[in-house]
Amino acid sequence: VTDWQGKHVTVAGLGVSGVPAAKVLHGLGAKVTVVNDGDDARAREQAAELEALGVTVRLGDGDTLPDGTELIVTAPGWKPGKPLFTAADEAGVPVWGDVELAWRLRKPGAAPWLAVTGTNGKTTTVQMLASILRAAGLRTAAVGNIGVSLLDVVLGEEEYDVLAVELSSYQLHWAPSLRAHSAAVLNLAPDHLDWHGSMEAYAADKGRVYEGNRVACVYNADATGKPSTEDLVREADVEEGCRAVGFTLGTPGPSQLGVVEGLLVDRAFVENRQKNAQELAEVSDVRPPAPHNVANALAAAALARAYGVPASAVRDGLRAFTPDAHRIAHVADLDGVAYVDDSKATNTHAAQASLAAYESIVWIAGGLAKGATFDELVAGSAKRLRGAVLIGRDRALIREALARHAPEVPVVDLDRTDTGAMLQAVQEAKRLARPGDTVLLAPACASMDMFTNYNKRGDAFAQAVRELGA
Ligand code: ADP
Repeated sequence: VTDWQGKHVTVAGLGVSGVPAAKVLHGLGAKVTVVNDGDDARAREQAAELEALGVTVRLGDGDTLPDGTELIVTAPGWKPGKPLFTAADEAGVPVWGDVELAWRLRKPGAAPWLAVTGTNGKTTTVQMLASILRAAGLRTAAVGNIGVSLLDVVLGEEEYDVLAVELSSYQLHWAPSLRAHSAAVLNLAPDHLDWHGSMEAYAADKGRVYEGNRVACVYNADATGKPSTEDLVREADVEEGCRAVGFTLGTPGPSQLGVVEGLLVDRAFVENRQKNAQELAEVSDVRPPAPHNVANALAAAALARAYGVPASAVRDGLRAFTPDAHRIAHVADLDGVAYVDDSKATNTHAAQASLAAYESIVWIAGGLAKGATFDELVAGSAKRLRGAVLIGRDRALIREALARHAPEVPVVDLDRTDTGAMLQAVQEAKRLARPGDTVLLAPACASMDMFTNYNKRGDAFAQAVRELGA
């Protein structure tokens, strides 16, 4: 679409993506109607702001397709089966998400996208990628699902050479024409299946990130699930000459990046053709050097190398990278016990990665399970558990899994969800821990039963540890 003048566009959903989308489309001359399910105080405030500009807003009715709609721009979280979309389908009206809109509104010659998706590790990987690109002297930013609006970046004044873009499965579902320079799917574990409908549909939406890639489709060579990320590459329709590039924590095969004797090694984008491998960095340059994080670094390196970045920039970029808060963040050492905050481990796949990174663990877990089961996680980690302290609404599910797979592990079950619960949890963990152990907050659950979000949960943990040390 190049002519927006008078075009009838329906924006589905107010909120972080809907309000800016409505403003931008209105500014382009479109006739914008916003439909929203909710009708609360916040929605009314946002509606008033948009109405003052001349945008029509319908509160409390997100399912009726406004007459004359030529295009829907939806918030990424709106489910595919919603009546609004069924009506759109019947009327032949296309549906775009926020990412599709940003993609279509890019200026001619705009920066290409290096895209990252996956169940876990997306934010860390795009940040590592941006750090590597920056170390190569490129103008870049980590954007997208990470909390930086693509629409702002695409329409803004600042110029970029290349963007490191985090995309969620929802965003990919609604972004049919997106074509990245190169893309990576980090891993695939069941998550958000209630939204996508099935594991196959979830994987297919993740796999869209590879569609139309020009240089490299980066896949996880260690992921054994079905479909694997390599299967998704095979199914994608890519540009001629685009390569499949794997990353592995083992010795890399041809066209892969991997680890050899403590070094990150590239066998896909070798600078000196006489050699068959290029050293990139040391494993100890990756922070924290936990296995899953080394995998993230390899994926970031693969995308940067696909873009043509020299090996030295990978090392410099990884060294310059500081992980975000609440992602395996070391909080303190007290009496020989390390206290680690991985509040961002909001699902079992993420918690599994952080439990695998330590030898002897007092595990603080629990919260909202979102339909997950814990048998695999607990069975796989049982031999590393010194003890467990359970918090939150769905903690019984974890307690039962512990009873089945780790009956010897002492468990403290905290039946309270008030704000003081985290302090008690940390005190109980301290009681169970021995010098050399790690007290690890890796809840494997969402936080909203007890906290506003995972940040607040991690802050409460760090605060409790500080009180313990005081
Ligand atoms: P996302 O943006 O995909 O949610 P983050 O980088 O914020 O990912 O990491 C979220 C959590 O997932 C981390 O706290 C860590 O526990 C876990 N994690 C990070 N990378 C991986 C990975 N490659 N595999 C499995 N778990 C991971």
